[in-house]
Amino acid sequence: MNIPYIDLERQNKQVNAKINAAISKVVKKQSFVLGEELEEFETEFAEYLGSKYVCGVNSGTDGLTLALRALGVGKGDEVITPAQSFIASALAITEVGATPVFVDIDSDTYQIDATKIQEKITNRTKAILPVHLYGAPCEIDKILKIAEENNLKVVEDSCQAHGATLDNKKTGTFGEIGVFSFYPSKNLGAYGDGGAICTNDSALFNEVMSLRNYGQTKKYHHDHLGVNSRLDDLQACILRVKLKYLDEWNRKRNQIANEYKKKLACTKHQEVLTRGESCYHIFNIEYPNRDALISYLQKNGIQTLIHYPIPIHLQKCYGELNYKPGDFPVSEAHARQTISLPMFSELENHEVTSIVGLINQYVNENI
Ligand SMILES: *Cc1c(COP(=O)(O)O)cnc(C)c1O
Repeated sequence: MNIPYIDLERQNKQVNAKINAAISKVVKKQSFVLGEELEEFETEFAEYLGSKYVCGVNSGTDGLTLALRALGVGKGDEVITPAQSFIASALAITEVGATPVFVDIDSDTYQIDATKIQEKITNRTKAILPVHLYGAPCEIDKILKIAEENNLKVVEDSCQAHGATLDNKKTGTFGEIGVFSFYPSKNLGAYGDGGAICTNDSALFNEVMSLRNYGQTKKYHHDHLGVNSRLDDLQACILRVKLKYLDEWNRKRNQIANEYKKKLACTKHQEVLTRGESCYHIFNIEYPNRDALISYLQKNGIQTLIHYPIPIHLQKCYGELNYKPGDFPVSEAHARQTISLPMFSELENHEVTSIVGLINQYVNENI
């Protein structure tokens, strides 16, 4: 048996012909940067999300950084964000010169614990950067309310949650700005790096559009200290093809997740808010003797990953912030116990059955 964590080749088979045609078209037109394909993708993705504006950028990390810059977050400011996420959520905050202020996650949803945000707000807090972790919606409506009451901005890290919803509204469209990543293994993945921001605010949109393009408002007129961070047209044409499949792929991920949940005995998994829908970017379980179970699965041909083994507050790069083990016990316990099981739309039923069978067998023998 050999079941990979993710197999993009199975996805490519469905879209290869269309993507190759789209790439040839771009190459023939020689329109590689800020061309029509990008504009079309931005329009189509905005429509998909139900957002007024989308601006394609070079990566999710750049999207988060430019979003914070457009909102005026910088030196001396504090931004509240979960302790357990991919490091990029916090890197964007430090990149603009602000300080990340971490909050523990909830032990059932693994999302930022909204009840612990208020106590972290100081007179330096400028924004909240919640993450829709693993593709499931966090309690973004509660977070928005806290932000409103305290006059804070909200940047949603929706980099794992393309198509997830809360009360039928797409994640990324709740706060001032939402950010997506098109890293190849994301639910909507490019053939390289890519990202986008979405917003309903035309001023913020114009600001990010300028920042991504050397800060210019008109050719050779540079009003802002910008960067070069554009989603290129080759990536955009690939994303346009794949966007049409996203809902179907997410439905399959949901079916796989439901199979896992129905059949897995004695392991804990992420709870999705009943008002929400996950796009299951990651399906993870918690198991106390995590490393032994991973080796057992590996020996039996099943590849798993860990998202993420070290919470952000304990990463070496944030040593100066002086957090210590024990500061965020739920995040730390999760980081010690989490295992991400194979999850991609083309994973077959018999593969899920094999994975579940092995896990249940192991757990039963090791109680
Ligand atoms: C992937 C990811 C990012 C960063 O996106 P890149 O495109 O890789 O820069 C940010 N936050 C989260 C939660 C992610 O999963």
